[in-house]
Amino acid sequence: MATRVGIVGYGKIAQDQHVPAIEGNPHFELAATVSRSRNGHPGVPCFTSHTDMLRDTKDLGAVAICTPPSARYAIARDCLDAGLPCLLEKPPGVTLGEVEELKKVADARGLTLFTTWHAQHNPAVTAAAEALKGKTVETMRITWREDVRKWHPGQAWIWEPGGFGVFDPGINAFSIATRIFPGTLWLKEAELLYPENRQSPIAAHLALSGSAATGEIAAEFDWRHSGGEAWDIAVRTADGETILLSEGGSKLSRNGEQVAAQGPGEYPDIYREFAALLDAKASHVDVAPLRLCAEAFLLGRRTMVEPFED
Ligand code: NAP
Repeated sequence: MATRVGIVGYGKIAQDQHVPAIEGNPHFELAATVSRSRNGHPGVPCFTSHTDMLRDTKDLGAVAICTPPSARYAIARDCLDAGLPCLLEKPPGVTLGEVEELKKVADARGLTLFTTWHAQHNPAVTAAAEALKGKTVETMRITWREDVRKWHPGQAWIWEPGGFGVFDPGINAFSIATRIFPGTLWLKEAELLYPENRQSPIAAHLALSGSAATGEIAAEFDWRHSGGEAWDIAVRTADGETILLSEGGSKLSRNGEQVAAQGPGEYPDIYREFAALLDAKASHVDVAPLRLCAEAFLLGRRTMVEPFED
């Protein structure tokens, strides 16, 4: 029997990706959505709170939490307490402690907890990780530039404390970097550029250290970019190989040659893994990308830049 999934937070990512992935996977069935503004998915019950959904949805089997990150912990906690496995959109929480606690609760109840990082589900990312396995990295350069007005139109939460600012896309880069880098990564220096009128950074210049690196590891995140996205990670290994992951981890080239990598797509692959985790009664909890963000905010030198108006 298909697992009946409730989606909490029916915004852009729920509509664009979660619903098609659920509808395209015979292991799942969309049972309900939660939208405080009553803007739910047509044809399935819509609740204005997750507690109403938990109380009134028959045979609910799992919950996908697609709200902004600051709401994630309380909702996930209630769902786990109600005995339901949870899939968490990225980032899995606003603090490491929240995620640690959710993992403890899930483990104690024998429930699946899945912290998803969609960019990791590109086959090119898996191929890059394989290519870098056991190698020494000479340099790694992460460039993540996009237009905030294009990708987050009217999303006020991204500028609030706990909204992550430019680290909302930047954490996708970190999720790829931590997946492919053949060792541990940590922050060394950070400059965070805050618009005068906002609580979260619009750009960041970052220097990292890595256990398997001999040279510079640097990241540039910038939301003030127009004219197409730049979502690239370029690695040079000590034995002279160059690896370039581009287009958000979807394209790989090795030494200038494009490598073919086929897969079902990010969100279909997320739900494929979720089905396998539910079947095995296992969890997949990965906080490495969130830890790098936390370190950047801990170390960050603050530079004020011009106000940002949507
Ligand atoms: P969004 O369009 O703003 O949607 C989030 C939805 O959650 C809103 O429509 C809102 O619906 C609901 N919500 C907002 N605050 C809430 C709260 N405090 N409690 C309960 N519900 C709340 O945002 P999004 O772009 O879908 O992003 C959601 C998450 O997915 C973020 O963590 C983001 O990083 C991640 N993500 C986004 C993308 C993307 O391209 N947009 C890609 C991958 C991952 P109601 O007001 O109707 O309740």
